[in-house]
Amino acid sequence: MKKIAFIGAGSMAEAIIAGIVKHEVLPANAIYVTNHSNKERLARLHEQYGVTPFRDVENIKDVDVLIFATKPNQIAEVLPKYASLTNAIIVSVLAGTPLATFEATFPNQAIARVMPNTSATIGESASGVAWNTKVTDEAKRWVTSLVEAIGIVQEVDEEQLHTVTGLSGSGPAYVYFFVEALEAAAIQEGLDPKTARELAIQTIKGAALMLDETREEPATLRERVTSPNGTTAAGLDALREHQFAETIHACVQAAKQRSIELG
Ligand code: NAP
Repeated sequence: MKKIAFIGAGSMAEAIIAGIVKHEVLPANAIYVTNHSNKERLARLHEQYGVTPFRDVENIKDVDVLIFATKPNQIAEVLPKYASLTNAIIVSVLAGTPLATFEATFPNQAIARVMPNTSATIGESASGVAWNTKVTDEAKRWVTSLVEAIGIVQEVDEEQLHTVTGLSGSGPAYVYFFVEALEAAAIQEGLDPKTARELAIQTIKGAALMLDETREEPATLRERVTSPNGTTAAGLDALREHQFAETIHACVQAAKQRSIELG
């Protein structure tokens, strides 16, 4: 049986643990977890998911996968403690922390850098993953099965993770902002807030499910619901007039650029 250990027990580690246990990717007793000092949190994770808290690296010396889930500014002090685990596949979910940071401690090991998003908490993350050159097909399969426990995952080059950040890493917030704008507009145009909220959420959800389930081109779905001179055409014309596509491009580009600056 594979054994995995989480270094860091915050919200991202918990999302992945919850997904792995729920989808039975591994039994809970194969999952070890540690943090800096919050004992209550480890006790709660043990209680809720059946995972095993640990403090001493000796307890995980035969671990197969080591998942780093601390904040990026905590990793420098964390890495030396685990340098003896030379057989483990290394996985990082740290934003903006390059593979090279982990290669300095684990020069001969397979390393995966994962960029999840906050929808991981409900098992719906859109994640990107980049590999180092030491990764084997088996390691890829393992890491992919772990990351798929929190949603879908796409393989990219490490450099492209900046664009992944600009699209899906920051993406949930763009959608929330879109919903805020839809609601505000509908309220100004005569709906009460509750009605506007319910219709806005279901509109986003229904359109997302149509895209996912039909796998049709977004443009095909859009054209199919747009009659010439109809209401949808009028709305889309207003979006074009206000440079919707250019605005979204500027948004993704700005987030990507910020990711490059921070990384
Ligand atoms: P978090 O809730 O702040 O969790 C950080 C964890 O690291 C805590 O359990 C903390 O323990 C632990 N830690 C700190 N120093 C440590 C040490 N020396 N040894 C062992 N554990 C240590 O952070 P998070 O939101 O889960 O984010 C974790 C990572 O995921 C970040 O690097 C972030 O960039 C990445 N990420 C998060 C999201 C997201 O949606 N949350 C999305 C994409 C990427 P204590 O509680 O005991 O201090």
